[in-house]
Amino acid sequence: MNDSGSMDVKFGHNSLLTQVLMKCPMGDFLSHMTKVKDNTPGVNQYKAVCYRELRAFRVALADDATKGQTWYFNADGESITLTSDEFYVREITLADTGTCRLPKREARGVMTTGVKLSWKLTAADIPKSVDALIEKTRAVYDAVGSLSPDEVNYNNVVKALADSECEYACERNNLDFLQHVATDKEMRDASCDADKKLSDMRQDVFDAIVAFQKKNPAELSEPEAARFVERLIKLGKRNGLHLPKDVQTKIKELKKRMSDLGIDYGKNLNEENTTLEFTEEELAGAPEDFLKGLERTEGGKCKVTLKYPHYFPCMKKVRNPNVRRTLETAFNSRCLKENTAILEELVRLRHEKAKLLGFPTHAAFVLDMRMAKTPEAVSKFLTELAAKLQPLREEEFKLYMQYKQEEYAKYGFENDGKMNMWDLRYCMSMLEERKYSIDHNALKEYFPMETVTKGLLEIYQELLNLKFVQVKDADVWHEDVTMYEVRDAKSGELMGYFYLDLYPREGKYGHAACFGIQPGCIQPDGKRQIAVAAMVANFTKATADQPSLLTHDEVETYFHEFGHCMHQICALAKFALFSGTNVERDFVEAPSQMLENWCWEKEPLSRMSGHYKTGEPIPDELLQRLTRSRVANAGVFNLRQITLGMFDQTIHKQPEADTAKVLSELSEKLMGIPSTPGTNMAAAFGHMAGGYDAQYYGYLWSEVFCMDMFYSRFRKEGIMSPAVGADYRRLILQPGGSLDAADMLRNFLGRDPKPDAFLISKGLQPEQ
Ligand SMILES: [Zn+2]
Repeated sequence: MNDSGSMDVKFGHNSLLTQVLMKCPMGDFLSHMTKVKDNTPGVNQYKAVCYRELRAFRVALADDATKGQTWYFNADGESITLTSDEFYVREITLADTGTCRLPKREARGVMTTGVKLSWKLTAADIPKSVDALIEKTRAVYDAVGSLSPDEVNYNNVVKALADSECEYACERNNLDFLQHVATDKEMRDASCDADKKLSDMRQDVFDAIVAFQKKNPAELSEPEAARFVERLIKLGKRNGLHLPKDVQTKIKELKKRMSDLGIDYGKNLNEENTTLEFTEEELAGAPEDFLKGLERTEGGKCKVTLKYPHYFPCMKKVRNPNVRRTLETAFNSRCLKENTAILEELVRLRHEKAKLLGFPTHAAFVLDMRMAKTPEAVSKFLTELAAKLQPLREEEFKLYMQYKQEEYAKYGFENDGKMNMWDLRYCMSMLEERKYSIDHNALKEYFPMETVTKGLLEIYQELLNLKFVQVKDADVWHEDVTMYEVRDAKSGELMGYFYLDLYPREGKYGHAACFGIQPGCIQPDGKRQIAVAAMVANFTKATADQPSLLTHDEVETYFHEFGHCMHQICALAKFALFSGTNVERDFVEAPSQMLENWCWEKEPLSRMSGHYKTGEPIPDELLQRLTRSRVANAGVFNLRQITLGMFDQTIHKQPEADTAKVLSELSEKLMGIPSTPGTNMAAAFGHMAGGYDAQYYGYLWSEVFCMDMFYSRFRKEGIMSPAVGADYRRLILQPGGSLDAADMLRNFLGRDPKPDAFLISKGLQPEQ
């Protein structure tokens, strides 16, 4: 604060000055400021480049050297001279329009130290940036790859590659991420194309690493560095770099094609925008506020999209079975033609590649890098669990059929006497309402977005001993997006930043996920590069007369994805390769799943809720019913997960697969319901093309560890215990991927993990 009541903004970098000037109400006159080369040591000249016609403006600067002085710019960008790189902007004055002082709050906001990302890119910038990035990486690879075996050492191989990866990951993620969130299509397309152009390790680089490992084991006394080298060699071999040239070429071709296909699959899904039209009467049963929020056609019909905030409320509540059937059929036919073909080609190519690399199947290839290690271990896990869950499902089905009978009689629909795919969510929702008296729609009123966000952020800060501060007027990709700074609460040390992008919009990534954008790792200069993560979700947006209200499911999703963001930020690995959530894929969900438990406990739930009209807390009795309802539909829900997990394993253990057929058969066998004829949910099963192939089982697998961690430590010692929270941050989150998950678990639990808590959480008996 200075004496005139406004805040000075201190800068160490001229692009930040640009940001502040841009944020100033008059700042849009400026496009940027650039540093002018000056030969005098210690003197920096800045040149302002203006957008619009502007006569003159003034920036008041105040640092030790320039305090009180005023500097003028001319429209054509006359430069100013400063004696240091750090200076303060106090006000900006335009010749004819007046003065803009920077208020304290905004000034605080723009100081995003250490963020190397930019959301001001245009579609035209992307290809240029990609070429530059490829060029930069090629130069590093050329340098490493040209070393002779007796020249290799830690600095010219390990450090050179780690440094390059640190920068590369950041720039690449910046370009990549836009395909999921950019507002204009041209930008998303450019980002997608960028993704396709960027690729991986080279033969000569691999040879240099192998030579280094052979020659210099003494230089690898540091365990993380040794792990880094081992991992690079393993990854190289998994790319076939130890194989003859012609095989390598084939593998490269396969990988390129697979990568393109994967991107197209995802893009098709993101761009999917089917809209169905129903009369309000046809949608009877759906919540009133939901109906009110729907756009109408000119004829007054309701427009229903297949995005989650439309689809799920309808499937849970709309009484008319024909409407549900129409919706379910459309939902599980999303991208049917194009993505079924893509997935089936992917299955063939994955198998072909696995064989070339010496693995019997793609599943065997993938699991070689996972906690589970083999397809047999996964199959045993899923099969045994399925058998245990069948009795629960049978009980649930009995109730479903009974409810269905009553409902259809009451509303005059003809009952076909079977369970159909389009009945499932409806019946599950009835069971929650009738058996546990949970009316999710009534419950929703206690979860307005703002209250949930506030409570959630407080809980995470307390539990993990962190401090979050919202960055005002941050550089973001859409006006709905917010940004927060994360510091260690005790030391005040900056840990990273996260973005929250919570509402749906056209062309945006359609699920909920956390993206690690800037990896936390050691930079070339030896200092830490802070981590930046983004949480992207599709929660119901506020309407004119109602704030954004979250279902309990959505609260859980929010908590879960946010947990991944914290993993990204709290991880303190040295190498980008081990940053954040770069742990074994079948462990990666465990830390976040564990945190979901907070959405089922009284204290945290109370802190995240308050009626949107009165602010009143959730009544105790409702809370109790909610927590009891956690095991509602456990049989069906988990068997559905097992079906998807087995589907994924099955198609990836064969040379080719008829995906619709495999899915329908497994669904019939495990759930007692085949797919609806003509549909193929696998065409919209993002995981299958988004890096979860042969790994979907990981959600259930990691739940074993999540429940063990929760019951054995937090439940016992206190779910808000700062001591356990500190252990959790230090032993589970902080290592990132620099340790094996099994070791992290042993460190946190004090023993090997056991499945007992997991079985109890599903309403089953632990094994004797
Ligand atoms: Zn997750």
